[in-house]
Amino acid sequence: MVVKPNFGKWLSVDTLDSIDKYVLITMQEPWEIIENKISNKPAYLEFNYDMSGDNLEKLYNSFEPFITDSYAIVGLGGGTACDTAKFLAWKFKEEFNFNLELYLIPSIISVDAFLCSSIAVRVDNKVNYIGESNPKDIIIDFDLISEAPKFLNRAGVSDTISITSALGDWLIARDEINERFDQTVFNRAKSIANELINASNEISNVTENGIKALVNGFYEEVLLCEDWGNARPEEGSEHFLAYCLESITHEHYIHGNLIGMNILISLYLQDQYAQFSLDQVTQFFEDIQLNFTAESLKISYNNLKTALKQVKTYVIDEQLFYSIYNSPKLVLNNEKIEEILRFMKFM
Ligand SMILES: [Zn+2]
Repeated sequence: MVVKPNFGKWLSVDTLDSIDKYVLITMQEPWEIIENKISNKPAYLEFNYDMSGDNLEKLYNSFEPFITDSYAIVGLGGGTACDTAKFLAWKFKEEFNFNLELYLIPSIISVDAFLCSSIAVRVDNKVNYIGESNPKDIIIDFDLISEAPKFLNRAGVSDTISITSALGDWLIARDEINERFDQTVFNRAKSIANELINASNEISNVTENGIKALVNGFYEEVLLCEDWGNARPEEGSEHFLAYCLESITHEHYIHGNLIGMNILISLYLQDQYAQFSLDQVTQFFEDIQLNFTAESLKISYNNLKTALKQVKTYVIDEQLFYSIYNSPKLVLNNEKIEEILRFMKFM
């Protein structure tokens, strides 16, 4: 069950100073910001940048002899720090039945890892979900987050704004393969995306209200997907093209920027099924200065062409949700792919 975050100025410092004994999983930048502000130093401090299963096991083994059930585990940083902390708390529960208090303090809000209860681990370059975490508290510290580069925080719209294309895919699946559908869930998703679009000014400037809009958007989206039982209202063809492209290039892109580009491709291809207009979403991306072009993402048109050629097979092989890329209405022949590339060069 997703936990509602707490907001405040330097709330990370107050929180750390109020915890008894804790293990801190963090990264260089956020640690440098708060190190001299806290009086209650961590019992163990660990920097981790590697989410491979092997590395996480190694990390767990290094803590295993020292940690008792009186410790708390804190993840302070980006997705990797939060996911590592989630993993350790989960692993101690699995092995010793310890209920270590888990605190998640994102120093940047570029992805929704800090809110998702599922724990993601990379095995052979693929993301595997191994279990659930149950944080005691999620802390949104306005001042800490403001220290991160604005363009990265803005990219945090990705997993909420992906609703704009995921909904068109859902309708296609309803009409073409009779997939389970619920109008109330659909409408709730739509209003989450609209609220985000309405906050474009605040998001652009990464003000406190902008941070709140981004985090609340994440929260509502994660809650909705938990209620519904899967990510259908939020994840569709825009994510699938991203996964396909990443499987070809093995590059890590800024998630929000890549999803931004793919949303526009999806809306273009969905045509009358698109639930948001291309103009409205493009305008939103321009308002929040999201770098969504292939050039700014350093994705060559050749790789993009390969991804578009393979995506239909990819979504079937990976058993992803039915989307525009499964639809018989879309024939991705050379001519169509050239048309998409022309559209992208123009956007
Ligand atoms: Zn995503």
